[in-house]
Formats: sequence, structure tokens, C-alpha cells
Amino acid sequence: MSEKPEKFIDENGLRLDGRKPNQVRDIKIEVGVLERADGSCYLEFGKNKVMAAVYGPREVHPRHQQKSTRAIVRYKYNMAAFSVEDRKRPGPDRRSTEVSKVSREALEDQVFTEYFPKSAIDIFVEVLQADAGTRTAALNAASVALADAGIPMRGLVSACAFGKVDDTLVVDLSKDEDNYGQADVPIAMTQDGKITLLQMDGHLTPEELKAGLEMAQEGCRQVYEVQRQALMDHYAKMQGESTEEKDAETKAQSKEEVVAPEETEASDDVDTEAEDVEDKVAGESEDEEPELEDVEEEAEVEEENPAEDSEETADEMDEEPDTEEDELNE
Ligand code: ADP
Repeated sequence: MSEKPEKFIDENGLRLDGRKPNQVRDIKIEVGVLERADGSCYLEFGKNKVMAAVYGPREVHPRHQQKSTRAIVRYKYNMAAFSVEDRKRPGPDRRSTEVSKVSREALEDQVFTEYFPKSAIDIFVEVLQADAGTRTAALNAASVALADAGIPMRGLVSACAFGKVDDTLVVDLSKDEDNYGQADVPIAMTQDGKITLLQMDGHLTPEELKAGLEMAQEGCRQVYEVQRQALMDHYAKMQGESTEEKDAETKAQSKEEVVAPEETEASDDVDTEAEDVEDKVAGESEDEEPELEDVEEEAEVEEENPAEDSEETADEMDEEPDTEEDELNE
């Protein structure tokens, strides 16, 4: 574990990592990264790296947890053993149980659970690299993963912490600020400004709490913009891909339509290249087409593996020039 720094704010008013007191760390979000989850998100918040996966709405197991009028939301926060400096003991502990509970409560209200009675929406978040603020990073990722899963929500939830170091309020604490600072207050906020998570560790005056909350809310708004943009980019890309696929299909279809009449017209052209000859043969005689294709494929295999000796293939290859010549002569 690193030692307590002498001071957290330098003479220029900047923090240990060069940030201004009201500056959040860089955020990077990738949407839809896991194939087997209904929704997923990989998120980096400074040096924090988290992966969120959402499954559901799906059947509830164990069944006694089922609610007849709404879906239940389950949230599992887990810190990988390799995510911290000294190896963390794997598996659930009191801290992860607490983080899971408060995070579920921060998100649950935003989900239209009444749309899916008797079902479950499961959120899993794995912290791959921790550097203070993992619960806020995890919440940000979970919120995007829920949206990616197509779960109807009132809005996104964005989270960010504020705290106090050297008697100065700072937003989005770094590891040393979190470990040795005077206060740490993680908050989560809906996109219309409602606070859904508020925890406090340390001491603050009421005025500091008020001012700090405003700073953290501004941080949440910045996080929200990145979340929104990541979702928009993801769906624009998906739409682009499906449009490209459609274009390719249309092109292929129109090409087939254009090629078909030419094939019949060009059938008398003896000087065409081998490929054209095959096309013509295919156009004129449907019966011979599969045979020729087979022969072609076999010939290619033979070329690639000259050592392999196949009587059948050799026979078929012998037939190829005959067939082509016959067609040409015709
Ligand atoms: P958060 O990550 O939400 O800020 P905490 O304030 O509890 O939650 O933890 C602060 C930081 O302390 C974590 O981000 C992580 O870097 C570190 N930490 C937490 N738990 C452990 C642990 N069991 N072993 C080592 N480091 C830990």
C-alpha cells in the first residue's frame, strides 16, 4: 500500500494526478461487448476497469423470490482477486454485499419493473482493476448495460463521488485521496437530478456537504453525457452495419439480375476466359453445373495438396476439359 502523501493539493491548486478539484477522471465506455449477455458494458473510469453484464427479464430462481406484480432486480458486485495491489481474497465479503445492496437500490427505481411480473433482471459487475470509486464506476457500467439489454427505464443512472482532502472539496477521488482523505461521499443520480445513492465516510460540515453535492452532481452530468454518447454511437454503428448488410444484399440481387440475361447472350463467345466459360455452362445447362463446380473444387484441392492422390478426383478432373471443350465446340 502506498504511503500517505504530504499534501494532496499543490501550490497551483492542482491535485496529485494534476486534476483540478472539480475535474472527473477520463471515462471510456464500450457498449455490447459480451455476446452471451442480454446487455453489457465495459467501462474505464480513470484507472478503474469494470465489466457489467445484464440478463433478463428471465425466470426467477429460486422461485420463492418471485414477485407476482413486478420484476425483481438483482445486483452482484464482485472485485476480482487481481484487481487490487495486494491480492484480494476471492468471493463475496461484507463490503461487496453492501456495495451490491446500495447499487441495486440506486438502479431499481429507474427500471419499469411492473412491466415484467414474476421475472428477474440480473446485473453482474466485475471489477477488473480498482483505483477508488469502483462502486460508482460499476453503477455507471450497469446502467449502460441495462439500457443495452433493452430494459425499459425512466432514465440512466450516473454516479460520481466527492470528498475532502487538505480541507478542500474534490470530485471523483483517486486512490490516495480515498484512502487518506478527510471524507468520501459517493453519489448516484438519475438524469433528471434525483439522488438514488448517497453514502458518506468521514466528516463534513453541512455547508461542505451541500457544496460537495453540487460538485458531484456536475460530475454525474458529465458521466451521463459519456454514457449517452456511448449508447448512441453503439446503435448508430449497429444501424450502419445492418444498412450495409441490406445494401450488400440488394447489390448482390441486382447483380444476379443483370448477369442472367448476359449469360445467355454471351454463350456463343468462344474467346472468353475460363471463368466466363464456366458461367456460360452454368447458364445453359443446369444439370452440368453442380458437376462442374464439384470438379473445380476437387481440382483446387488437388492443387493445394498435390501429394494427395485420389482416383475419383483424377477421373473427375479428366472430365473437366472435355466438358468445357464440348461446350465451347457447341
Ligand atoms: P470504492 O471502490 O467504491 O471507492 P471503497 O471506498 O470501499 O470503495 O474502496 C476504495 C478502494 O480501496 C477501492 O477502489 C480499492 O482500490 C481499494 N480496496 C477496496 N477493497 C479492497 C480490498 N479488499 N483489498 C485491497 N484493496 C481494496
